[in-house]
Amino acid sequence: MNRELTPPRKLVIVGGVAGGMSTATRMRRLDETAQITVFERGPEVSYANCGLPYFIGGEIADRASLLLQTPSSLHGRFRLDVRVRHEVTRIDRDTKSVEVHDLTTGDRFTQAYDTLVLAPGARPRREEPGADIPTRSLRTLADADAIDTELARPGLPVVVMGGGYTGLEAVENLVARGARVTLVQRGPQVLSPLDPEMAAPLVPLLRSHGVDVRLDTQLVNTQKGSVYLSDGTVIPASLIIDASGVVPESDLAAAAGLALGETGGIRVDEHCRTTDPDVFAVGDGVEKIDQAGERALVTMAGLANRHGRMVADVIAGRPATVRPTLGTGIVRVFGTAAASVGMNEKRLRAAGRPFYTVHVHPGSHAGYYPGAEPLAMKLIADPETDRILGAQIVGRDGVDKRIDVIATAMHAGLPAAELAHLELAYAPQFGSAKDAVNIAGYVAENTRTATTPTVQWHELDTLHAAGTTLIDVRSAEEFAAGAIPGAVNVPLDELRDRLDELPEGPLVVHCAVGLRGHIATRLLRERGHDTRNLDGGYRTWLAGTMRLTTHMPDTVMRSPAPEV
Ligand SMILES: Cc1cc2nc3c(=O)[nH]c(=O)nc-3n(C[C@H](O)[C@H](O)[C@H](O)COP(=O)(O)OP(=O)(O)OC[C@H]3O[C@@H](n4cnc5c(N)ncnc54)[C@H](O)[C@@H]3O)c2cc1C
Repeated sequence: MNRELTPPRKLVIVGGVAGGMSTATRMRRLDETAQITVFERGPEVSYANCGLPYFIGGEIADRASLLLQTPSSLHGRFRLDVRVRHEVTRIDRDTKSVEVHDLTTGDRFTQAYDTLVLAPGARPRREEPGADIPTRSLRTLADADAIDTELARPGLPVVVMGGGYTGLEAVENLVARGARVTLVQRGPQVLSPLDPEMAAPLVPLLRSHGVDVRLDTQLVNTQKGSVYLSDGTVIPASLIIDASGVVPESDLAAAAGLALGETGGIRVDEHCRTTDPDVFAVGDGVEKIDQAGERALVTMAGLANRHGRMVADVIAGRPATVRPTLGTGIVRVFGTAAASVGMNEKRLRAAGRPFYTVHVHPGSHAGYYPGAEPLAMKLIADPETDRILGAQIVGRDGVDKRIDVIATAMHAGLPAAELAHLELAYAPQFGSAKDAVNIAGYVAENTRTATTPTVQWHELDTLHAAGTTLIDVRSAEEFAAGAIPGAVNVPLDELRDRLDELPEGPLVVHCAVGLRGHIATRLLRERGHDTRNLDGGYRTWLAGTMRLTTHMPDTVMRSPAPEV
């Protein structure tokens, strides 16, 4: 083919960070002749917005390390025409051109395209701005610089609105800088991708680091350095960080007549093509299709990068489609990691979808090797197909590895019981001969096949009221340190000798985390007792009923002996 006869493709990209720049660089690798122009409204391109909280906290000391590329480096390596401080103000689909406002000179001009890619991201929702207290979101380097400057004053009182990923990251790093932080969270828990019993341990953790956590609370008003909260309290604040959420930056697309979804995100097909075949869209501004086949806003860097790359493949004529998103996410809060993938119980329950859940608390690595930390894991699966619907993990070590294994299993469509068969790397520093993921698979199989039927923490009160007896099979020492009201203590190793003490009727047994309860359940069921195990044991019940405190003794928060 004589390439010289083919005019170079004119690709225009709006937005020069995660999604936009992934498209631009992949496009260049696929097409050496394309004219690729990137317009970015802000002063930087391709910067690490995920690193901003750690720049504020001081963990990332070198601001320049957040600037991954510059227009000049991108021109040098990829011959990209990258224009910062250039805002695209209009798309004319009839003439296939965009209007651009040069924010430095004030000039306005028109740029033609053959193909347009929109990667405009999201913007803060900003429902409740603080009128007379400086209010910042944490989206850009300019935001981070402004917050950094404010934090020069030691002991600065700061209110963080929103206990999601960004809010929690902000809180951790504000505390690292010596700020006095109040976290105001509208809902009854922090980190809404998690179910309440999984997110619950984060609240005492935050409080143990001096954070004033206000759940079910909203900011009502601000006045003269004070924030008025919906719980009736007034707290001093010199700075408000608004981490209450984002909305898709989809106005430009909407004004051009491109379809938006009900979520407000730009609607695209499985090739990230909008309702105009020559216009694509990727990243936070776009609706994703989740594993349930529903349209959702999922604002994650990995998705923006992957979809940006994939769009270049599509434009270059390669077969490529996006996969349903699982929304895999993780956050660190004062040394504890909290991660989730897929759907949570709240959503499944609201949708009326059948599911079963498994709570386990295995060690991050072999208990005999120093430094093992308990992991709180929740696995949710379809009782019919055993397909994994979601997982959540909280712990101090090994959370990232386990959530990624489960995300991979979900991507591959593995049933929950198949987790038992995964051959995962093991040496005592890294895992266990029965890895935490394997254990989740064992328990899933036992639960689904009713080998050991379980009850959930939130069912106990009703069962108890209906006459079910609760048997606590932990040691007398553990029982004395704290127990579920109404439970009778019969330690597992005494159970066979004390069977005649058990009442007639249904039993629920429990231990600290579920393993001894499972053994007791098997023993009692073999002997004809109608018995079920409390899934996740006392520890999950404590979390679910919000009884966790910071200073719980090791007999409660850690298994007294290796439970495997
Ligand atoms: C503080 C913070 C921490 C984060 N941490 C994580 C994390 O740990 N893990 C994770 O997965 N995700 C994280 N994210 C989310 C992640 O950064 C986003 O999902 C990702 O950046 C989205 O990429 P994008 O290209 O869609 O949008 P962005 O990266 O936001 O880029 C969009 C760009 O488009 C520009 N733009 C918009 N409209 C126009 C226009 N009309 N003309 C020209 N330019 C325009 C904007 O100025 C913006 O720079 C974090 C985000 C923030 C803010």
